Amino acid sequence: MQSRTALVEDLMSRFPHVPREAVIKEDLLRGGIAFDESALSGNEDGDVKPKSYFIFSFDHRTLPELGAAALKRPPEEIVLTGGPYDLRRTVVSVRVNPASPYRVRAGGRGVLGLYLDGVRIADVGLPPMPAYYRHSLENGKSVMEVAPTIQWGYLIYLTVFRVCQYFGAKEECQYCDINHNWRQHKAAGRPYTGVKPVEEVLEALEIIDKYDETKSSTAYTLTGGAITSKVAGRDEADFYGHYAKAIEERFPGRWIGKVVAQALPKEDVQRFKDYGVQIYHPNYEVWDRRLFELYCPGKERYVGRDEWHRRILDSAEIFGPRNVIPNFVAGVEMAEPFGFTSVGEAIDSTAEGLRFFMSRGITPRFTTWCPEPTTPLGKANPEGAPLEYHIRLLDVYRATLEEYGLSSPPGYGPAGPGNAVFSVSSFMDSLPASAPVGVS
Ligand code: SF4
Repeated sequence: MQSRTALVEDLMSRFPHVPREAVIKEDLLRGGIAFDESALSGNEDGDVKPKSYFIFSFDHRTLPELGAAALKRPPEEIVLTGGPYDLRRTVVSVRVNPASPYRVRAGGRGVLGLYLDGVRIADVGLPPMPAYYRHSLENGKSVMEVAPTIQWGYLIYLTVFRVCQYFGAKEECQYCDINHNWRQHKAAGRPYTGVKPVEEVLEALEIIDKYDETKSSTAYTLTGGAITSKVAGRDEADFYGHYAKAIEERFPGRWIGKVVAQALPKEDVQRFKDYGVQIYHPNYEVWDRRLFELYCPGKERYVGRDEWHRRILDSAEIFGPRNVIPNFVAGVEMAEPFGFTSVGEAIDSTAEGLRFFMSRGITPRFTTWCPEPTTPLGKANPEGAPLEYHIRLLDVYRATLEEYGLSSPPGYGPAGPGNAVFSVSSFMDSLPASAPVGVS
């Protein structure tokens, strides 16, 4: 069997225009990383910023199966540099997999390194504990719990509703562990607020604003599970929108406000805009019709794929096409038993979706699928999608973007290898270098 190193190097040589950094990053995101105990954080009392579990688990094992990483959290992200591939600075979100051929451990002189198949391939930097994480809310809750930051501090991730009203096998998206993640944190006795009170969110933001010494926090994302009925008496647009309204009233224009919500009717989308949201993410998840119906049964039943896409296009009239950025979960196209069996077919299908949106000025983006073990697709596909799929996707994404004269989407920080901070896929690492694109 081909070693993982051989696979990685083969793809690097076959796709020389995809940055080497992106090849390693995609492989880490799809397959996870093992950690020596010395590379774990000291939780909230240490010097390293711990993994906050900001929405999904993004791990390859359940919490009780993570060993030491369940007691001492892993870092939120790692940054890679140097090594035999001469990697430029690459920020990678941490997904733990004790069985991964990639391991973070201390090497000679105690400097942390990333090892692949036992060979050191990069130096590893850990995110320092931000000053704002050292302060708590009046009620004792931590800033990490209420308003964690990711992407090396760029994005405040506000999962204000930690569960989803699509519930159970017939409704939950087949790759999503939001509900399981909530249950496992509760079972472990960790603080994990189901619905975050707006006052707590404002208080946490106040602390971030005050103690963000490097002024790196630039955007916030309001998100959480789908709301099919009501939460705290509010429908989905009103629920997520009322946080945006409160934030924008208290801190006008301080951050770029983004909302991840379902593809909602135009009047609801207009409410987001009126509340001061600048970027809307009505995620379409997977392009292929059959796979969408199978993988997103709740969304198919309540909204339907065609209507979902229509609403995405409608929302571009309100936000402007550049500010509508729907996500898809890259890799589930190839999940057994229903997915495409060849990389070529999966790429063709995904590219069709990219063309559909990009030809209308809308720039989708993607996160790299993490096959979490409690989800139906993760269970059936513990290895995730083939690395070649992820590499070819980066290629086709960049080519399609260029074909339609588009550039990297706004609100993601700088683009280009060595510059990007977006940590859950390497689409920003593989685009041409550019300064951060602001919202117009
Ligand atoms: S809508 Fe689907 S992807 Fe989103 S939180 Fe619910 S189950 Fe997860």
